[in-house]
Amino acid sequence: MPEPTLRFPVTCPACALESPSDIPIAVIANALLTGKGIRLHSDCHDYYWTATFVEREELRKSLALLQIESSEDQVQPHSKQLDAVG
Ligand SMILES: [Zn+2]
Repeated sequence: MPEPTLRFPVTCPACALESPSDIPIAVIANALLTGKGIRLHSDCHDYYWTATFVEREELRKSLALLQIESSEDQVQPHSKQLDAVG
C-alpha cells in the first residue's frame, strides 16, 4: 500500500512558479506536531527548501480539509453500479 500523500501547490523560490508537490501526510502531521521543518521541493529547478510559516499554515489547513473529506468518503462509499446504467 503506497504511503498517503497530500498534493500541495508549492512556489519555487528560484522562479516563483507554482507546481504541485506530493508530501507524505505522516511527514506533515509529525512536523506540525513537533515543530520541525517541512522539506519542500520544486520540480522545475530541483530545489529543496524548508517550509515558511505561511506554507506551514497552508499545509495545516490542507491537512485538516483532507481529514474531513476522507471521513466523508467512509460514510458514502463509491458505487460502480451507477456507471453501468448509462
Ligand atoms: Zn523554479
